[in-house]
Amino acid sequence: MPKSDLVLLALDNPDILPLFERALAAASYQVAIAHDRAALDKILQETSPALLIIGDIFKEGSGIEISAALLERLPTLPILLFVTQDLPATTRAALRVGISDTLTPPLRIDDIIRTVENSLKRAQRIGDWTRREVKRTTASLEKRVNELQKLETIFNHIEDGVIILDKGHRILLLNPAARRTFALGQTKLPGKNILDVIEHPALHSLLNTAVDYPQQYYEIGFEDGRVFNAQYTPIPDIGVAITMQEITYLKRIDQMKSDFVHAVSHDLRSPLTAILGYVELLDRVGPLNDQQREFVRRVRVSVHNITTLVNDLLDLGRIESGFEGQKEIVTLDGILNYTLDSLNNQILEKKQHVHVELPPQIPSLRGDPTHLRQMLDNLIGNSIKYTPDGGIIRVRVEVNEGQIILRVSDTGPGIPPADQSHIFEKFYRASNVVDNVQGSGLGLAIVKSIVDTHKGRIWVESVLGQGATFTVVLPAYRPEDVKKPSA
Ligand code: ADP
Repeated sequence: MPKSDLVLLALDNPDILPLFERALAAASYQVAIAHDRAALDKILQETSPALLIIGDIFKEGSGIEISAALLERLPTLPILLFVTQDLPATTRAALRVGISDTLTPPLRIDDIIRTVENSLKRAQRIGDWTRREVKRTTASLEKRVNELQKLETIFNHIEDGVIILDKGHRILLLNPAARRTFALGQTKLPGKNILDVIEHPALHSLLNTAVDYPQQYYEIGFEDGRVFNAQYTPIPDIGVAITMQEITYLKRIDQMKSDFVHAVSHDLRSPLTAILGYVELLDRVGPLNDQQREFVRRVRVSVHNITTLVNDLLDLGRIESGFEGQKEIVTLDGILNYTLDSLNNQILEKKQHVHVELPPQIPSLRGDPTHLRQMLDNLIGNSIKYTPDGGIIRVRVEVNEGQIILRVSDTGPGIPPADQSHIFEKFYRASNVVDNVQGSGLGLAIVKSIVDTHKGRIWVESVLGQGATFTVVLPAYRPEDVKKPSA
């Protein structure tokens, strides 16, 4: 301990002060004496004493209270309290406010020196520990700050738009890509409700329905032709993350592909009609033997299959190109009856059971009856086709907050998880389809396009081996929508 340490004496007891002065001088400490509160404050401001010794009564004030106030400002200053009377209550009160130790008469020079040195040593140890801790904490904080800065840089530079919302849809974070996507400029957004800040209807519909009707991907289109694929991910304890990836170029390529397929299908139709025509004529120009008749039957079936495929492709092309068809005010139960009637033979043939559950009243919807019929034909037709003989097919319609929810479920083979996000793509067939179940992989692509043109959503839920449930959500008809140009 360097003996040049400065010890500050705040003692106004004339009987005891000289003893302290002598003791400290004997141990080579520098000494400063404060005779009153003002001097005490001044010395503390101008110097940095290593220790303060204060009387329990100092200038009619309480040494403990003065020490408590000083320790608020100088928490590391060691303080010794000189008490005239050794009372346990006083010692407890002194230690409680953070005073290091007490000195009680009778005092000898040695006692004073020992107590001062012990106190300084302890203070030194505490100081060393505190410095180490501060260094350690600062280093770990710097590391955290660095990590946070890195994360912020990444967040700000990723090309995909990212929006993080709390559970009340208030914005917590929003990266520059998301600002650019919605042309939000530099306005301060955190804390604001996203529905007030961004007026895009597709985003509103995503936020309003994603919790109840989860779906992996949502398309958000803009008037300037940009299209984004939005993903909604709930984040436990925080809220939700919306990520948006631009897929405009993919959409264009898809369009080119569709145009090409449409053109080719169109050109295929005439030769197919010609083949069918000549096949029909064959037995009119002369008698056919049994084998020839069987060959003709096979040609007819094959031509029929190709014609169905070509018609599906042309339909898909028409629906995808936004061909509006005849939009009318229709009810789903009427269309459903037609579908079930037309599929009745297949149902009977496979000895399947169809359960239909309808609410007492289904609101009407604005749609193209032919396309809606095609949608039901394909969904229920698939259930019949993929479900083994004797299986059960359930068709349920529910109504919830202006939405018509149609569910078609079956007890068939189900769809492997890896295939579920692809089955709405053109020509995609799941890996578990068995060879004898015919299909082109176009039915669900047609259904998806029809649902899209009706501003609805579709998804599948399935556990492999335990059947599949297709859910379609369509907006119910609201007369006020018709007046809007967008409806
Ligand atoms: P496909 O002409 O092959 O039936 P779809 O586009 O209608 O074409 O369906 C795509 C794929 O989705 C099917 O090949 C099949 O693997 C799967 N699928 C559709 N519906 C069902 C269902 N109800 N049960 C099991 N798999 C189904």
